[in-house]
Amino acid sequence: MSPAYDVIVVGARCAGASTAMLLARQGRRVLLLDRAAIGSDTMSTLYIRPGGVALLARWGVLDAVVSSGCPPLDTIEYDVGEVRLASATPRTPGADAAYAPRRGVLDRLLVQAAAEAGAEVMDRTSVRELLRSGDRVTGVRVDGGDLTARLVVGADGMRSAVAEMVGAPTVVSDPLASCVYFTSWSGLRTGFGFHERPGSWIARIPTHDGLTIVSTYFPQQEFAQIRRDPLAAHLGAIRRHAPELYDQVADIVPTDRIHGTGDQRNFYRQAAGPGWVLVGDAGHHLDTITASGITNAFLQADLLAAELVGTDLDDHETTDAATARFGSQRDRATSSTYRSTLDLARLSLSPGRIDLLRTVATSPGATQRYFSMVLGILDAAEFFDDPELLDLL
Ligand SMILES: Cc1cc2nc3c(=O)[nH]c(=O)nc-3n(C[C@H](O)[C@H](O)[C@H](O)COP(=O)(O)OP(=O)(O)OC[C@H]3O[C@@H](n4cnc5c(N)ncnc54)[C@H](O)[C@@H]3O)c2cc1C
Repeated sequence: MSPAYDVIVVGARCAGASTAMLLARQGRRVLLLDRAAIGSDTMSTLYIRPGGVALLARWGVLDAVVSSGCPPLDTIEYDVGEVRLASATPRTPGADAAYAPRRGVLDRLLVQAAAEAGAEVMDRTSVRELLRSGDRVTGVRVDGGDLTARLVVGADGMRSAVAEMVGAPTVVSDPLASCVYFTSWSGLRTGFGFHERPGSWIARIPTHDGLTIVSTYFPQQEFAQIRRDPLAAHLGAIRRHAPELYDQVADIVPTDRIHGTGDQRNFYRQAAGPGWVLVGDAGHHLDTITASGITNAFLQADLLAAELVGTDLDDHETTDAATARFGSQRDRATSSTYRSTLDLARLSLSPGRIDLLRTVATSPGATQRYFSMVLGILDAAEFFDDPELLDLL
């Protein structure tokens, strides 16, 4: 019997919904399912890097994000105490700004785009088991019955059940580095930016409805202590390291409770095997301090879809070769952000970095290029090889 679907995608957020949309646009018969309700929120500080915004633009979804009332984040500030950098958000083809849409909004827009492309969508549906024929995954078991497919995509997040059920090996793993708490306030007079000190990172991220999310990062070793009273730790860090921001929040009540986690794993899992492939956090997770997860998810969806163009999914050898190539591309495309994220998440602001930033701050061009590097638009080697920077140094 022919499988019911070409592709079943498990998980309907930034990785899964984008993958389903792109594969449905290739004319594949796609089922996108999630155990949560479409449009529900999930824990995130929402920031999409310019590279992710450029993909939304290319996919035709950015206009809907903008129309949802999400403000453009077109400036960026970085304060390390004695040095302050400020610039326009570096541009990349297709993106003039970054955005931080509510996840309920972003994920719903992506699911809508997948449905418009022809994907079938089933929410409030949990995948309990995988179906197999020999060592090949051939579908999923949900409460309502069995659903068969030529390819099963696990886009089900860091604790991926699909990865666990296929036994995807972890191929790279690094220790937990930071922990994070965040809440939001209304009406702050502040744009997008960060405050860094040794042992502390604070980000301000404007989102829908005039709200600004403020996140505070602490070393992982402090998690057990901080979780006893996270709001006090959060406000204490803001008071010590971002006093101008503290002046604005000290006398007003946050619009949300405090959220946070100490479980920000750093790993790569094997990306693919017979009849299965992992995208987004399911296959690769990293500390959230550089706000890269959503952009990484988009990038992976795009890479997987490109590898599958024209692939005959009934031809197992060709399909598995395509998904394996996707795995190599994923590793190449994400490894430098992974390394720089681990570096930053150790929260050890070194004197050498302060010196570099002091030099960078003397030149608007170098500042722009520094932010381009931080946001993954410019390669680190290109940043450091720049003749103007070499002159300044
Ligand atoms: C505190 C925090 C702050 C963050 N801030 C940012 C940020 O500012 N910018 C950024 O880029 N990233 C940020 N991230 C990371 C970002 O949220 C993730 O990288 C991103 O959500 C990954 O998307 P995904 O689609 O791979 O997985 P997820 O968003 O985790 O979605 C997985 C989906 O799979 C579904 N699912 C799971 N198991 C099953 C099952 N068995 N059956 C059916 N469905 C299932 C879940 O219901 C869920 O909807 C943050 C994360 C945290 C925790």
